[in-house]
Amino acid sequence: MRSIFSRSLAFSLCLASALLVQAVPRVGVERQPFGKTAEGVAVDAYTLTNTRGAKVKIITYGARVVSIEVPDREGKPGDVILGYDDIQAYEKDSSYLGVIAGRYANRIAKGRFSLDGVEYTLATNNNGNHLHGGVRGFDKVVWTGKGAVVGGAAQLKLTYLSKDKEEGYPGNLKVTVVYTWTNRNELKMVYNATTDKPTVVNLTNHAYFNLAGAGVGDILNHELRIYALSFTPTDETSIPTGELRSVMGTPLDFTTATVIGKRIEDKYEQLVSGMGYDHNFVLNKTAGKLGLAAEVFELTKGRVLRVLTTEPGVQFYSGNFLNGATGKGGLVYPRRSGFCLEAQHFPDSPNKPEFPTTVLRPGGRYTQTTIYQFSVRK
Ligand code: BGC
Repeated sequence: MRSIFSRSLAFSLCLASALLVQAVPRVGVERQPFGKTAEGVAVDAYTLTNTRGAKVKIITYGARVVSIEVPDREGKPGDVILGYDDIQAYEKDSSYLGVIAGRYANRIAKGRFSLDGVEYTLATNNNGNHLHGGVRGFDKVVWTGKGAVVGGAAQLKLTYLSKDKEEGYPGNLKVTVVYTWTNRNELKMVYNATTDKPTVVNLTNHAYFNLAGAGVGDILNHELRIYALSFTPTDETSIPTGELRSVMGTPLDFTTATVIGKRIEDKYEQLVSGMGYDHNFVLNKTAGKLGLAAEVFELTKGRVLRVLTTEPGVQFYSGNFLNGATGKGGLVYPRRSGFCLEAQHFPDSPNKPEFPTTVLRPGGRYTQTTIYQFSVRK
């Protein structure tokens, strides 16, 4: 009697644990081909899955994050990142969707800077200025990928060697970006770089978010908070003037959560010349220490994005130049259908000695960590 009882107990326990195993999605990294570039280089896509079944997809072309599927407040998954369906569309993209921008993310005035008394001339690609690494920045090259499960989390390591004189930059720069998709729905990005000659480095991820779902409307109703008391005003070509200006009393005051669309059409000179928000905010935190940069909430789906970073600044860009390109699943991306929060050093730092330095020397190491943390609110 007792043995029948214990056998059936053992059987039920086995069944329950089998069901439990089935119910917990497997952490993993899956690699699939993502076509070839026009030059014939093969591109891979890596899908990172966590224990919650939430997924992130990254391609080796431009180290781009191409989708992030996270639940809304009802538990329904949705893709919150703008992107395209195929490599051809990514090669045509001029909006830097999901890329790692480099060697210098954001702008360097007139594509010139001097370092140790030597003047360098970079490729110019934006109103006579250098933007996001030039004509062929890190967004347009194929990185080497290696997926693994590390400490129970799905991880993708991407590496790229940027050769001496590439786009005009001095030094061979070895760059590594490790994306970890944690079991708490956080995308952690750890960047590292070393050089063999003095150079400048500023890396960022340029994902466009729409927390209601990519391609289902604009981002003007998202509520934004930025942990910054000042910003770096720019001239008419988006180059910082060097001033650090208080956000108080301006439409760039996001010290309390404010809907993005509320003041975006304000006639404040900085918003007029930027055609909306396209500014670097000076974060209230110790540089080099991981801290909160921004928090975004979307009311209809309840998703929350928090951005944490070790960087001194964050560029808030309200997608002003998105122009109706067709994205994933045939959905279109009109103006302001996505926003970026680009954790970074300040624009044009190589020409602004008063800004935190972006110089990297042989023997030194560039490091930065940024985390996109997703959750929901009722
Ligand atoms: C810049 C914008 C630019 C965009 C490119 C942003 O980081 O600040 O001015 O148009 O990238 O899509």
